[in-house]
Amino acid sequence: AKSAGGNRFEFADPEADARAISRHRLTNALPAALDNGEFFIEYQPLVRLEDGSVGGAEALVRWLHPQQGVVGPDRFIPLAERTGLIVPLGRWVLEQAVRQATEWEGATRVNVNLSPCQLTDPGLVRDTARILEDAGLPPQALCLEITETALVGAEDEVLRPLRTLCEMGVDIALDDFGTGYSNLAGLRRLPVSELKLDRSFTRGIRTSPADPVDVKIVEGVVRLARTLGLSVTVEGVETAAQAERLRKLGCDTAQGWYYARPGPPERLHQLALADAC
Ligand code: C2E
Ligand code: CA
Ligand code: CA
Ligand code: CA
Repeated sequence: AKSAGGNRFEFADPEADARAISRHRLTNALPAALDNGEFFIEYQPLVRLEDGSVGGAEALVRWLHPQQGVVGPDRFIPLAERTGLIVPLGRWVLEQAVRQATEWEGATRVNVNLSPCQLTDPGLVRDTARILEDAGLPPQALCLEITETALVGAEDEVLRPLRTLCEMGVDIALDDFGTGYSNLAGLRRLPVSELKLDRSFTRGIRTSPADPVDVKIVEGVVRLARTLGLSVTVEGVETAAQAERLRKLGCDTAQGWYYARPGPPERLHQLALADAC
């Protein structure tokens, strides 16, 4: 931003300029980064609240940038979505995660995030089927996570590939649930089997006493899920007390730093094996 004649509110903002330049550089570097193998995946366990066992893991992509070190997905996924690179990048993540999942003994499934841009990719269903088949992973062991906001009010065209994947046996989870204001009628038409309650709603369960409004929200979501035959996963579980409360409230699965931060695939393998003992 440049300062424009005499308007004292339009002064130069060097920090905003620096951020824009940084975004521009990252965007330009994305295609080569994929070719050069600079992306890697960390896995975060999904824990069954009922008995504390590891039921699977979510794949979370990171970028090992040659100059900047590890860059988080919040910084580059939006850029990849804007340029369309998210389609090949998302396919790469799916391929890696599915292959990785065949090596886990204890864990039963892998969750992979799907960008709304991938839903309009005509190759999505075919590529997913091929990736599963090549790896020899049953479709039931894959869960695709799509944000609620991407599906609220979605056209049938967008939902069709999801329905097909669902019929194949792939699970679909509604990610960041609670942030997109879906209603009961809207939810019924979505081919989803799981709600992932956004971290912003489990934060208030951590405090002592728990935030009564957040407790009511979790109770409401659990009731809604039961009515529709869906399971509930809670994100952002950071303490033992929070996990215990969420279990008592009827949530099925939990994910968060209390159990493990996202880490290399070997670590998940160890967690799953330790769990089996
Ligand atoms: P998300 O799908 O909601 O993933 C959960 C995020 O919460 C992850 O951030 C995870 O590291 C973080 N998290 C997990 N447990 C805790 C906790 O106890 N406390 C707190 N404060 N945070 C926790 P991450 O890895 O930075 O990913 C950010 C977002 O980037 C993801 O949010 C997802 O929307 C997106 N993303 C990551 N990988 C992919 C991918 O392969 N494809 C697409 N399209 N998006 C991805
Ligand atoms: Ca997710
Ligand atoms: Ca989420
Ligand atoms: Ca255990």
